[in-house]
Amino acid sequence: MRFEKVVDLIEQVEAESGRLAMIDLLKSLFKSMTPEELNKAVYLLQGRIRPEYEGIELGIADKLVERALSQLSGLPLETIENMYADKGDLGLVAEEVVKRKKQKTLFSRTLTVEEVYNTLYKMATLAGKGSIKYKLDLLLNLLSNASPKEARYLVRMVTGKLRLGVGDMSILDALSEAFLGGKSYRPVLERAYNLHPDIGYIAQLAVKEGLEGVKKVGITLGIPIRMALAERLKDPEEILEKMGGRCAAEYKYDGERIQAHKDDGKIKLFSRRLEDITYQYPDVVESLKKHLKPERAIVEMECVAVDPVSGELRPFQELMQRRRKYSIEEMMKKIPVAVKLFDVLYVGGEDYTLKPYPQRRRKLEEIIIPSEEVDLARKIDVSDVETLEKFFEEAVSEGMEGIMAKSVDEDSIYEAGARSYRWVKLKREYKSELTDTVDLVIVGAFAGRGKRAETYGALLLAAYDPENDVFKTVCKCGTGFTDEDLQKLPQMLKPYTLKERHPKVISKIDADYWFEPAIVIECIGAEITLSPIHTCAIDEVKKGSGLAIRFPRFTGRYREDKSPREATTEDEILEMYRQKMIKIEG
Ligand code: AMP
Repeated sequence: MRFEKVVDLIEQVEAESGRLAMIDLLKSLFKSMTPEELNKAVYLLQGRIRPEYEGIELGIADKLVERALSQLSGLPLETIENMYADKGDLGLVAEEVVKRKKQKTLFSRTLTVEEVYNTLYKMATLAGKGSIKYKLDLLLNLLSNASPKEARYLVRMVTGKLRLGVGDMSILDALSEAFLGGKSYRPVLERAYNLHPDIGYIAQLAVKEGLEGVKKVGITLGIPIRMALAERLKDPEEILEKMGGRCAAEYKYDGERIQAHKDDGKIKLFSRRLEDITYQYPDVVESLKKHLKPERAIVEMECVAVDPVSGELRPFQELMQRRRKYSIEEMMKKIPVAVKLFDVLYVGGEDYTLKPYPQRRRKLEEIIIPSEEVDLARKIDVSDVETLEKFFEEAVSEGMEGIMAKSVDEDSIYEAGARSYRWVKLKREYKSELTDTVDLVIVGAFAGRGKRAETYGALLLAAYDPENDVFKTVCKCGTGFTDEDLQKLPQMLKPYTLKERHPKVISKIDADYWFEPAIVIECIGAEITLSPIHTCAIDEVKKGSGLAIRFPRFTGRYREDKSPREATTEDEILEMYRQKMIKIEG
């Protein structure tokens, strides 16, 4: 098929504003193509050449296109640059250049869909020495055989600027009308696409094998499944009502969602947008190899940053530093991660997506060997509002974004690619950012494990309440200490060690070691949250809750200049909580 036919359609789609008209146009184009052409055209219409998860991007730099146009026209590069500046669209510049040239030369081949696609594919996959020159030649070859209109769209395609608004969903609509006998088969097609989100593959299958072929599409290891998404409700009461009086609730970890595929022991990781992010997390790959028992499985999890020394969870911002292409090993040491598994979609040849959640969760519990790096998302079963409310508060006070309530009904399937009320998120509405440092008193400590067996795992820190002359706990802090600090701490605290809690320390937590309030250290946290376990400002904001500093980190400063009664006060923390309150969007 001539490439011109695709280009004509693109032009028509651009002129059409209605979705239905666009689907009609697509449908008639699709019907006139062979399966192989259709397979290629559905990518080209979106300015792509392969499904997104394969990571093959066109993205040719504007500069390279300018060079090609300069060579093609014999005009100086500067003239092309000026034309671009003037028109603001390299596609239009290409059109103009080709139009002028056509007046001079008469001979050129007609471009076919196949040739355009194959050349673009080559351009996207070339790498290494000499590849720029080769790309330039390939582009020149295409442009010199293109009509002015074809040049306009070719250039928009290669530079990633073809923004037609023909999404995969519109293509599915057109496919079901063209080959499956109407709109009513759209759900079948969509299910196939959700399990195998490669629009070229689905298109080819629809035309070759029709409904029966599409129905057979299943899970393929190594091809990401479109992820299930959650709805949102405003409080625990609404959630329980919607879920028929009972549900499961899980911590909603604040990290990055990962879908992991294990195939004969080999692991691939996909992001929520289905990009292959395996290279980014070699540590997760290794831990899943060890801690996920089956040789073949697909599981989903949230990946969170952990403190390298204390093992405490760290805020999302720290995890984001792992998003990079270079120095991965170095960042892996600086920002280690853990994964919290919450679903299983496939095990040993069996599709689990259509099984109810309780069954999937049980399977998940069976197939992992829990460890510090790989563990299950914390979960409880709930049938009353109060328990759900408490779990939510506990989650928030532990630094979570909130909770995920999950239906436990018969039909609580994993609905690939869909947002439904089978999962409902309950997020805290506000967070109170903490940007100042605070000076807190060491009142207790917890025994260290592993590398920290000889010292403390974390310190229990308190703020001062001058009115009652007592110290009230506000956080556990195990982050920010150097090895030297850790060695020195037991000696430093020895003179103040007590057998039990000091009478002036108010705590609901049972520490392993207790100290007389004496030493003040400077800390910085990420935010202040309500907490059922800390006593600072208890009952001030909410009955039964105190305030906690989340994600505290020792700054390295021992405030030897401060006596414990000069530490940050409870009122100051309350004030910070109230002033820095910000609404969480999204
Ligand atoms: P949101 O991004 O606010 O729509 O919330 C959905 C996201 O929460 C998912 O995509 C996951 O990345 C994340 N998440 C964290 N913990 C869980 C959990 N236990 N179950 C499901 N999703 C979770």
